[in-house]
Amino acid sequence: AVLVMLDLVTAVCIHDKIKHEKPVRAVQQYASPYRRASSANVTASIRIQFDTTTVEQDIGNQVLYQYVKGLLDAAASMLSSAIRVIPIQGNLYVSRDCNYHWVSGQHVNECSSIVVDQTCGPWARVSNSQKDQATVWQFSSGQWKEVTYEQGTGVKDADLLVYVSAHAGDPTCTTSDTALAYSGVCQRDQLDRPVVGYINFCTSTLQNRHSSSPSQSDIMTTVHELTHILGFSRSSFAFFRDENGNPRTPRCPDAASCGPSDTPGYPPFSVDQNNYIVSDSTVQQRQERGLLVSRLVTPTVRYVSQKHYNCNSLVGAELENGGGSGTRLSHWEKRVFMNEYMTGNTYPGSVDIFSSFSLALLQDSGWYEINFDAAKHLKWGYMLGCAFALEKCIQDGKSQTPWCKNSQNDGLVCTYQRDALGYCGLDEYSQDLGASYQYFADPKKGGDDPLPDYCPF
Ligand SMILES: [Zn+2]
Repeated sequence: AVLVMLDLVTAVCIHDKIKHEKPVRAVQQYASPYRRASSANVTASIRIQFDTTTVEQDIGNQVLYQYVKGLLDAAASMLSSAIRVIPIQGNLYVSRDCNYHWVSGQHVNECSSIVVDQTCGPWARVSNSQKDQATVWQFSSGQWKEVTYEQGTGVKDADLLVYVSAHAGDPTCTTSDTALAYSGVCQRDQLDRPVVGYINFCTSTLQNRHSSSPSQSDIMTTVHELTHILGFSRSSFAFFRDENGNPRTPRCPDAASCGPSDTPGYPPFSVDQNNYIVSDSTVQQRQERGLLVSRLVTPTVRYVSQKHYNCNSLVGAELENGGGSGTRLSHWEKRVFMNEYMTGNTYPGSVDIFSSFSLALLQDSGWYEINFDAAKHLKWGYMLGCAFALEKCIQDGKSQTPWCKNSQNDGLVCTYQRDALGYCGLDEYSQDLGASYQYFADPKKGGDDPLPDYCPF
């Protein structure tokens, strides 16, 4: 059940509404040899640096700008207390984007022209001082000419550089009334760890923030967006590394062994899904409860899942199947994760939990070593067993704990955070719900949020 709160609405994440460009590789310097982050090699707390040039111009209003900076600083310090990386030696460099590559001839696959006004994300400009050196081959008057772009100074003390913007009228933001921000990856290093990304704050939502100190829920939303950049995204799963630092999703080594839409050295690419195809040793899909259920099945995530739900037959942690393209597969399933901070939406007054599930996912990417002491306990689903984790919330008219099945007329029940009373959130929809979501004799009746599979609580 949800406490009734006026003037507040459920905030939905729009991570997958953005078009995730194929990321560019930006080779960085590491103490050699560079391999999987683990206790076997030297790691340090991740240094997240923000380039706020664009957001400062976008916002103008100093109070609001300071609010955003407060969010970024709080989010970065929370993440760096939990996440360690093999640190970049010296400065971080942004790779120069190439307009065109030669498709044949002496300089095949080399760049023929560089992007001058390079951006990361839709709005933030990359300054020349941050860029790496690059060589371009031009052909004119029957002769090859080599053009070299000098290396800039780079970015100091950074393992991840995030460009920040807050563009008025951003078209992705206008698809949602409630989204605070969205984010994406621009560049990955030689082991595919995201090293350059962006976050765009939605001005229409920001403008409602009048306090000078950042709210806890906005901080957690910022941590959520940064976690998408760090690796919790359907566009990153195919890049995950195994225990030995090898790709979990096999890659074709050269053009001869690659399919027509694949790139040598990268995971297989699906044009239809506009995404890399992940191996089933990372994300497993199967039919359950009449639905196609996707689970992240990497070792630490599997272990944490089995312990949390007390269900040893669980192969992994369920990913969100609902919410259309906006939240699908880039979040934990709301039904079994509820207020974990990487679910696809947040209810008013909810406390987002920075749990060991999301940290386990980041550890299983192979790019990070995790300090699990930083994790907070998730109450939802704790020790409720396989039935809760695997079966429908209401079967044969009986609701499992903690689900409810009585309408508002039947009075107050425990809220999902189990610290107050509220009404069981049921709705009468205008159309029949999908067969897998029909829990009542009336096929139009169901929980008031689709993300937890229309389960009422
Ligand atoms: Zn999200």
